[in-house]
Amino acid sequence: MATQRVLDFFATRRPSGPCLVVDLDVVADNFHAFEKALPDSKIYYAVKANPAPEILRMLAGLGSSFDTASVAEIEMALDAGATPDRISFGNTIKKERDIARAFELGIDLYAVDSVEEVEKVARAAPGARVFCRVLTDGEGAEWPLSRKFGCVPAMAVDVLRHANRLGLAAYGVSFHVGSQQTDLGAWDKALSDAKAVFSRLADEGILLKMVNMGGGFPTRYLKDVPTAQAYGQAIFQSLSKHFGNRLPETIIEPGRGMVGNAGTIKSEVVLISKKADNDNVRWVFLDIGKFGGLAETMDEAIRYPIVTERDGDEKAPCVLAGPTCDSADVMYEKTPYPLPLTLTIGDEVLIEGAGAYTTTYASVAFNGFEPLRSYVI
Ligand SMILES: *Cc1c(COP(=O)(O)O)cnc(C)c1O
Repeated sequence: MATQRVLDFFATRRPSGPCLVVDLDVVADNFHAFEKALPDSKIYYAVKANPAPEILRMLAGLGSSFDTASVAEIEMALDAGATPDRISFGNTIKKERDIARAFELGIDLYAVDSVEEVEKVARAAPGARVFCRVLTDGEGAEWPLSRKFGCVPAMAVDVLRHANRLGLAAYGVSFHVGSQQTDLGAWDKALSDAKAVFSRLADEGILLKMVNMGGGFPTRYLKDVPTAQAYGQAIFQSLSKHFGNRLPETIIEPGRGMVGNAGTIKSEVVLISKKADNDNVRWVFLDIGKFGGLAETMDEAIRYPIVTERDGDEKAPCVLAGPTCDSADVMYEKTPYPLPLTLTIGDEVLIEGAGAYTTTYASVAFNGFEPLRSYVI
């Protein structure tokens, strides 16, 4: 739910047009909850979830490290006050010249998931530390990451052995269990795979040090999600089960779980209409849609809580769509969204849990609509 600070901001500043407001206090609370839940893990905030400078600066001040995917994100983290030793280049798909630039900037920790990428890193960032990403099945995640990233554990052994041979520091294994992962057990299989890679390489005298346990920590949308504490316990149990009392260094890379619940979008109802007189499903068009920041409604994957001033009134299912001229700009149709029958053109609605993956997913000027404005308070 939007905090009082956010509600006060909307009430007093009355920004026109759709916009996101992020409450930094909530981000700080989330950071401390992760610290408490996994006290032995370093936190690398996944910058892509919301790279607002105010967020990065505050997290840098709290001692966070940063997971980045491009030179621009590395520069944002540096500008926010993070030192290079607190930044990882976590994208497994990098141009060699971007690796070289990152290395110049002092970055020493790189993700790989193929021998081909290892060769780039060895040339452009000689001697750097690399970790190899292993595939996960993404089961249980509402926004799974498919097979695009990672390789099978047997290949990870080859990749890290090759890194070692080329003079890189074969540093560890990473995985991502899929975003908005609500299955506490999802980390267990991945940690078992990570341990297998550790053991195989240890037999050859290559001693890995670190497991990067990725992101995936959920934010609350319409359904309750387990607490950070519950994730911490489940993960710690799996770590102990697979690694015994020789626990590796660990990293987590929360994105959504760090900023999702800190942000609220204000939007306006532009049109409410029907396609035929006898239709009972209304079409509700907002001034924000898939191209204005709600890209994660793709396949109706993420269902945001929507709050109106008429929520006490009787509700009926609506198709919810955005304002652009693309017919793909429909958020919820397969599963219509219940909204008050009294909802009226011009009403304001609040879209909750919108702090992650919204501003950066907004198009530049599709149909002339400006990108999602954002305020950090
Ligand atoms: C996007 C991403 C994250 C953050 O994922 P969330 O599900 O938002 O926590 C973490 N690590 C990597 C490598 C990513 O690409």
